[in-house]
Order: sequence, then C-alpha cells, then structure tokens
Amino acid sequence: MNLILLGPPGAGKGTQAKRLEEQYGIAQISTGDMLRAEVKSGSAIGTEARAIMERGDLVPDSIITAMLAKRVTQPDCARGFILDGFPRTVPQAEALDSMLTEMGLALDHVIELQVDDAALVERIAGRFTCGSCGAGYHDTFKPTAKSGVCDNCGATNFIRRADDKAETVAARLDAYHRQTAPLLPYYAARGRLQTVDGMADMDVVASQIATILGKATATA
Ligand code: AMP
Repeated sequence: MNLILLGPPGAGKGTQAKRLEEQYGIAQISTGDMLRAEVKSGSAIGTEARAIMERGDLVPDSIITAMLAKRVTQPDCARGFILDGFPRTVPQAEALDSMLTEMGLALDHVIELQVDDAALVERIAGRFTCGSCGAGYHDTFKPTAKSGVCDNCGATNFIRRADDKAETVAARLDAYHRQTAPLLPYYAARGRLQTVDGMADMDVVASQIATILGKATATA
C-alpha cells in the first residue's frame, strides 16, 4: 500500500505516519526528516538545504525528487510507503507519478489532514522530540509524564526544530498555501483525494484514516 498524507505543517502528518508504519508494516518517508539528517551530517545537500529550511521555504524540486527516488527503492519500502511531506509542489507530484509508473507501482490513497491555520502556530510552536528515540511531545497537548524525562526511553535530551519558531511557521504556512495546496485539486481530479478532520483528537484522526484504508478496527 502506497499513500500520501497531505496537509500543512503541524497538521499531524508525522504522528499519523508513525502509527501507520507500525500498524501496516510500511515505511514512513518524511522528506523533512531526511533533509534534517543531511543538514546534521553536513553533506552537500544539507549545506544547500539548511538556509532554505530555516527561512521556511521549499527546497528545490530537483534535490527532493532525486532523494525520494533513491529512498523508495530501499528494502523497507517493499510492502509500501507513507509519504509525509512529499509531494509539496505539482512538479513533485508529476515526478512521483512517473516514478511510480516506472516502478510498476500505484498510489492507493491521498489523505488530506484538514486543519485551521490558527491552530497550527500553537501546535507547532510547542512541539519537541526526544533526542534519543525520536518520541514526539508538546508543551501543552502532550508533555512528558515526568518533566525533562522521555516517557518512552528515559533520555533527558530533547530537540526543538530550528524552523518551529513563530516567524518561520508563518513562512511555512505561506509556502503550503501557495505551493502545496494546488495538490488538492490535482489529486481530486484523479479521484484519489480523501479528507479527514485534522482538528480532531489524534486517536479519532487515526480511526478516520483506518476507515479510509479499509481497516476500520485498526487502533494505535
Ligand atoms: P517538514 O518536516 O515536512 O515540515 O519539512 C521541513 C522543511 O524541509 C520544509 O519547510 C522545507 O524547507 C523542507 N522540505 C521537506 N519536504 C520537502 C519537499 N517535499 N519539498 C521541498 N522542501 C521540503
């Protein structure tokens, strides 16, 4: 099963993608995570992407599609993948269509997580992850049970993304509306688009997605 989770930053794509990865045994592909790993490693791609990401702009299509083309051939994608943060432009969607055709694969679902812009800044500004296991938290909505200690692995080092600052979030939302939102009619015209209420509780969102995927009893 190959699917796309579409939605603005902070809509909950990463959270839902991680759940789907566990439930269905298919790979989460987050182009944002891949780029952050490139930045961390100091690679040529990371060096080019860093300033662009810090401004809240989109990294050039050519870099992203080349990265994605390599990623989908890895063994963990054999049962399928969840694209989280890709495609983000119409040229990326077109490149994905050609890639899938060449690989003899199909896109099974495109699921939009619909969220009000006003809620996104609050959601994004408070989020942080465990620096050891990657578990996600939020200052208000999902704090750690014990202050400063990861519930999942007990580590005490946490990471806040450089681009989660309020001023950068505005630029990222702007990029979403200008460059990514045109993908909604793109996939609707191909009969692929389904929308869920991303404002709902994350368990409710997960069950809405499970219903779309035809596995109504799936829970996290
Ligand atoms: P994300 O973690 O998905 O919010 O992505 C963080 C940042 O990485 C974005 O604000 C972009 O600068 C960059 N990025 C991630 N995915 C893409 C993509 N598909 N196309 C262009 N830029 C991307």
